[in-house]
Amino acid sequence: MANRFQKFYQMVAEATGLTPDAGQPALFGNRGGFDLLVHPLKPSQPGILTVTVCVQRAAGPLTAGEIKEFRAGQWACARLFQQGQTVNMTIKNSLKVTKHMPEVLPGLLDGFAEFLRQAGFENVCQSCGAAGETQSCFAGGRLLQLCPECLARMQQQAATAPVKPENPVAGAVGALIGSLAGAACIILLSQLGYVAALSGLVMGVCAIKGYEMLGGRLSGKGAAVSVVIMLLMTYAADRLDWGIVIARELGVDVFTGFRSVGVLLEMQAIDGAMYWGNLVMLYLFLLLGMVPTVLSGLRASRQAGVVRPLQGPGPQL
Ligand SMILES: [Zn+2]
Repeated sequence: MANRFQKFYQMVAEATGLTPDAGQPALFGNRGGFDLLVHPLKPSQPGILTVTVCVQRAAGPLTAGEIKEFRAGQWACARLFQQGQTVNMTIKNSLKVTKHMPEVLPGLLDGFAEFLRQAGFENVCQSCGAAGETQSCFAGGRLLQLCPECLARMQQQAATAPVKPENPVAGAVGALIGSLAGAACIILLSQLGYVAALSGLVMGVCAIKGYEMLGGRLSGKGAAVSVVIMLLMTYAADRLDWGIVIARELGVDVFTGFRSVGVLLEMQAIDGAMYWGNLVMLYLFLLLGMVPTVLSGLRASRQAGVVRPLQGPGPQL
């Protein structure tokens, strides 16, 4: 977590009295009888905070009218929605809110808890659904509200279950198969006349997912192997794409076309600026798909067997 965000979470903790977790960008604590989790909705956007509770009531989920009424009274709330047993309130990501976070947040959290109480909700465990006191936990890469029994059971399971081994050879095969889908996408879209961001995304996502599916899980080594495969396959797909164009123009077969790309480049029969410019674009799009997929894959692999309650005092600045 970048230092800027550590400071941000520290500031939120001071304003609200919630406890920042030592390892995750998340804060937890009880407000008006409800166990709250304050966390980013997506790991890629640590500045956009969401407040989550795990609750239930006899009257069923929140109605559109209730949501509208709450939002009318809380200008700093960007969105309020229920997903199964969790009710989530996203805080507006505007300069006005960020600047005045210490004044805005306490009232917003109290208002949220009061709203839940009046609507007849009560805390429940996210695993077994039992009503009562819960603990904020980090389990298998997710933030959860668990009762003490479910937490103990999950910790027991995590301690006894063997960690999935990684098979780098099978993983590399998976990455290769995945990258073929990306290569096909590059060639197909290019023949239709596009250098599309989509090709890079498909290449990045398919290769990493291919590695994970056949290799078991993604390690740093696996990520490096996958990245090399993606770089080479993108280069090869681009060459083949040109080979197809040459084959069509000169009336030769695709294999001959593919082999003559280098010679034609040297002879400047293919415009070098166009060729390399096209390749650079492809690589930029590849980065867009590759970087987030690799990072989330590595994160998931690291967090796979972790089950623990959240605990303070938060990251030391
Ligand atoms: Zn439970």
